[in-house]
Order: sequence, then C-alpha cells, then structure tokens
Amino acid sequence: MNKYQEALNCFTECWGCTKPEYYNDVMNKLRIEKERKKLLQNLVDKATPKEIHYMSADYGTCPSCNGEVMNGDNYCIECGQRLE
Ligand SMILES: [Zn+2]
Repeated sequence: MNKYQEALNCFTECWGCTKPEYYNDVMNKLRIEKERKKLLQNLVDKATPKEIHYMSADYGTCPSCNGEVMNGDNYCIECGQRLE
C-alpha cells in the first residue's frame, strides 16, 4: 500500500484523524475541500503500476492516456501514470 492509499483510507474512515506524517504532503496537493477524495483517488491510481499496452517488444501505449511509452519506462511522461 502506498502512502496515498493509506491517506485515502484515513480520509474515508475519519476526516479528523489524518496521520501527521502524511498531512503536509497530502494537504499541499489537495487545496479544494470537495475535490479531496477524487484527487487522492487519482493519486492512488497514478501511483498504482499499470501494464503497458504493448504494440511491439519495444514500445506501447499508456493505459491511462494512450500516450506512447517505451518498454522499461517506469512512468508515462505524458500523464505520470506509473507503469509495470
Ligand atoms: Zn499516460
């Protein structure tokens, strides 16, 4: 479980108990109250590795934005999606 997933779980369970070690990191990213959970979910999704849709042995497309990615890329340079 990554730190954003833990923070999301914490928000979901109790708005008042956000772990202090995540507070600054999370709050800096989430400025609009009503968008908090949606944005956190987005961070969770982006931080969760997804498989490249391979077009050949060397390259493929990002599962989130369909941008072109190379075999071995850890992140999509277009949208920041973490890749397996
Ligand atoms: Zn992408």
